[in-house]
Amino acid sequence: MKTLQDSIDHLKGVGPKRVEQLATLKIKTIEDLLTYFPSRYDDFAVTDLTQAKDRQKVTVRGTVMSDPMLARFGYRRNRLSFRLMTGQNQVVMVAFFNQPYLKKQVHLNDEVTVLGKWDAGRREIVANKLRTKDPSKQAEFGAIYPVNKHVRQDTLRALIRQAFDQYQDVIATLIPQSLIQRYRLMDRKTMIKEMHFPTNDTQAKLARRTAAYEEFFLFQLRLQAIRRANRQRAGNQILYHNDELKAFIKKLPFELTKAQKRVVNEICRDLRLPYQMNRLLQGDVGSGKTVVAAIAIYATISAGFQAALMAPTEILADQHAEKLSKLFSGTHVHVGLLKGSLTAKQHHQLAKAIQDGQVNLIIGTHALIQKDIHYANLGLVITDEQHRFGVGQRQALREKGNHPDVLAMTATPIPRTLAITAYGEMDVSVIDQLPGGRKPIQTKWIKGNREGAALRFLKQQLAVGAQAYVVSPLVSESEALDVKNATDLYERFKHELPDYHVGLLHGRMDGDEKQSAMDDFHSGKTQVLVATTVVEVGIDNPNATVMIIYNADRFGLSQLHQLRGRVGRGDRQSYCLLLADPKTPEGKARLETMVSTNDGFKVAEKDLELRGSGNVLGEQQSGVPDFKVGDPVGDLKMLQIARQDATDLLNQPHWDQVDANLPLVLYLKRHQLETHFD
Ligand code: ADP
Ligand code: MG
Repeated sequence: MKTLQDSIDHLKGVGPKRVEQLATLKIKTIEDLLTYFPSRYDDFAVTDLTQAKDRQKVTVRGTVMSDPMLARFGYRRNRLSFRLMTGQNQVVMVAFFNQPYLKKQVHLNDEVTVLGKWDAGRREIVANKLRTKDPSKQAEFGAIYPVNKHVRQDTLRALIRQAFDQYQDVIATLIPQSLIQRYRLMDRKTMIKEMHFPTNDTQAKLARRTAAYEEFFLFQLRLQAIRRANRQRAGNQILYHNDELKAFIKKLPFELTKAQKRVVNEICRDLRLPYQMNRLLQGDVGSGKTVVAAIAIYATISAGFQAALMAPTEILADQHAEKLSKLFSGTHVHVGLLKGSLTAKQHHQLAKAIQDGQVNLIIGTHALIQKDIHYANLGLVITDEQHRFGVGQRQALREKGNHPDVLAMTATPIPRTLAITAYGEMDVSVIDQLPGGRKPIQTKWIKGNREGAALRFLKQQLAVGAQAYVVSPLVSESEALDVKNATDLYERFKHELPDYHVGLLHGRMDGDEKQSAMDDFHSGKTQVLVATTVVEVGIDNPNATVMIIYNADRFGLSQLHQLRGRVGRGDRQSYCLLLADPKTPEGKARLETMVSTNDGFKVAEKDLELRGSGNVLGEQQSGVPDFKVGDPVGDLKMLQIARQDATDLLNQPHWDQVDANLPLVLYLKRHQLETHFD
């Protein structure tokens, strides 16, 4: 039996070579092919004449209803005209001026396509272009596909046509009938047909709306199904002692903010439940997520479980380890730092201590989920995300060992828009308040990259005891060049600031070098730390009050906001100086945004607006998959509706036993267990 899951080599003319070529477009099955939709349509997409305005450019396909007549008038002027019956059974006149040779190409009862201007009064198309071949087989017609150098438009179009002809009868509609009716959508077969071979504008638009809804609905259905499965999956009951936890919180050097207290409660309630926690912890830079994580860790360990903290970079893992070791000194928390620079022997010893349970807080990078690391009883995994783990990776984590609770911390606020796609399968806690006593950071844009102005300001601040970060220009993707830049800048600052100690920090330094550079900055031995963007994440020195960023226009908004968040962590006034000479309107808009607000959520919204979802949403960056048709930002309303519809469907008892839902059930079976979302 034919199914849409058939490999594309079922098609005529598709051998191993073609299979390979099509794989470069991620087309493997008939379904992949049929849902490989055009990115746009050329002029030949047919106009709905009933909707056309006078003098509008139109494209009309139809049958020639009268023999073409050539009339000559004036000096060398002529008019070729015939009647045409359109696809919607309307009869109109077509007139070509001064193209007498076309007469030979038009015959009674031919199918033709004409392009021209609509004269509504005379119900006539004043045409200038004629296509006479069967439009569906014609290269210039209709849909334009995003292709690459391996696959040509014509090839793809012909294959799609072939696949549609052979498989149209097995295209089952996935969206439940009630929803199709509610939103007046197309069935799937019509949608696919109209996406590729549109009859007219109106149909093409409806097909697009249907395709976008289907895409969102299916995606949300997968997310919600994961969420459900996780909720129902037995997890550990982490029964910590309330009094002990309260005592720990009391000993912290500050009182928790209201928002911190609220999210601590949300997390702790999840820990106690016999289900697996899947929670996202959101909060602006400096809102105090780390201490919330520490409380969750303390609770977990005091209940006899292990906890793991996974950071995106080794530098950040180091920093977490240092900070948490201090915080937990004198308690029963024993920290192990798992990093690449360990010798084989050290690694082995640590792995053993983890397996024995001697070490109960394990901090590291991805190494934490390596195969040779076995946990005695892992109860909680915290990921410090930086937008770097996708839905699939988180799911892999959840399925590890004895189904630990998972808390994902994001360093950058995510607009709601994105959160429901990137983290749609999780519960969300938000810290929406900064610790009291903080003065808003003053941000200044130093136009024209005037280093002198920045240096003068820096000297004034150093004179009154400030510490400063200086972030060197980001030149390219090449780390080597960035390192060279940082080193040059470091030499220059040393020369300019003979009375102060200047430190250097970049990604190519070895672990000990980095550590001592950071230690010196924390202890105040160095007053100025010149660094590449390695300081972007997590570095926490409350005495640092000046942040100077070179070529700030080269950085993305969220990165700038992260960098700025390294200062303003104590009670003294902090400053952020952006040296920039932006060459593009977007660059300028980013700087203006930074100057105008300190609010991470506002920055994130603006970022989205400036870059457009396509760029913000690369799966690698944000964990949001690439949608083929829908735009999760532009079509947010639809996305939210689809999410609700998916939830409602799953809430119906025995929805999966209803015959009409079988195609959906099969779809979920095929996709639900994939850890890779793409
Ligand atoms: P985030 O990880 O959210 O960027 P951190 O957890 O690093 O923020 O906290 C930023 C700084 O604020 C740290 O120096 C931390 O010790 C301090 N801090 C956290 N919570 C509070 C609080 N409730 N009151 C005062 N200072 C706090
Ligand atoms: Mg932090």
